[in-house]
Amino acid sequence: MSTILDPWGHFAIEKYEKLFKQFGIQPIDTVLDKLPIKHHFFTRRIVFGHRDFDKWLDALNRGEKVAVLTGFMPSGHTHLGHLMVFEELKYLQSLGVHVKIVVADAEAYAVRKLGRRKVIEYGLEYIRHAIAWGLDPTKTDFYFQTNNTTPYYRLIQMFSRKITKAEFEAIYGEASPGKIVAALTQASDILHMQLKAYGGYKHILVPVGADQDPHLRLTRDLADRFAQELGLRRPASFYHKFIRGLDGNKMSSSKSDFAILLLDKPEVIKKKVMMALTGGRPTAEEQRLLGGEPEKCTIYELYTYFLLRNDEELKKQYERCRRGEILCGRCKKNALKLLLELIKVHQEKYRELLESQIVEKHVNIPDF
Ligand code: SF4
Repeated sequence: MSTILDPWGHFAIEKYEKLFKQFGIQPIDTVLDKLPIKHHFFTRRIVFGHRDFDKWLDALNRGEKVAVLTGFMPSGHTHLGHLMVFEELKYLQSLGVHVKIVVADAEAYAVRKLGRRKVIEYGLEYIRHAIAWGLDPTKTDFYFQTNNTTPYYRLIQMFSRKITKAEFEAIYGEASPGKIVAALTQASDILHMQLKAYGGYKHILVPVGADQDPHLRLTRDLADRFAQELGLRRPASFYHKFIRGLDGNKMSSSKSDFAILLLDKPEVIKKKVMMALTGGRPTAEEQRLLGGEPEKCTIYELYTYFLLRNDEELKKQYERCRRGEILCGRCKKNALKLLLELIKVHQEKYRELLESQIVEKHVNIPDF
């Protein structure tokens, strides 16, 4: 049995490391010293890489005008994976940063082929969850891609002049009209806050999952090409690992049996957690002898991301698993208890928002 303990999740970084080499994403370790407050997403390398986040932090620390922009595609119910972005935004908002969130409804319509009504419904659900998780609605701007104002759309049209089909294919692999429009719209999402009409924020940070980097690469190229004409600057970004679904694959609302949806009932969550993939051994005897493998375990991932914020507690959990001092059945029950407490508080706030209609009052909702 190994006694080398690594409770902070470095184990899953290897596959992300090739992104460092292939695309020039920098390891997050290079900026940890600059963070005004350390959050466990960074210290545990759940946020594992970045582009120019150091420069953005320098601007923040100099007291310059900085902002954060991120978004989501409303193509299903909100789940634990989305909470990662909310958690990052809540952290950034606690630093006094202006936060803006785009609902990528145009993209969901074009790329996922969903009906408009459904897309808007999912969009509102997502916004409610963001606020229920702790984002301050009075300090957060939300908008739908199909309901912005003229300069935002003008950027999309202007961007189309300075990108070729070949460049687009090199980044995305495929260049259907829907995908081109969606990508140029995302570029406008990321860059429009730099225009005077939207606050003139020249230091923009985009916190996203690793799969969103192609959008950042395209957008940074476009910023360079419009540096003179519009005074645009490259946005900064940081990247988090995906939280896995309970089957060990990427969590997705389209595979809802393996995703914890934020509106799941307690009994549904219980069922999902109790059948989750773990790093346990085939028999209790073997597990006591060899110890578990938390590196492979979706339950340990829940502990690392959300359930145990205290490093010492997480370390203890890791050690007990590795030494075979706890079996998976009991460990799952402990995780379930913590998860249900978390979800209960969140759902109560969500219901309050639903009743008060605060989101409907705060956000400009598209007519169709
Ligand atoms: S004991 Fe807990 S952390 Fe270890 S493998 Fe089993 S469920 Fe995962």
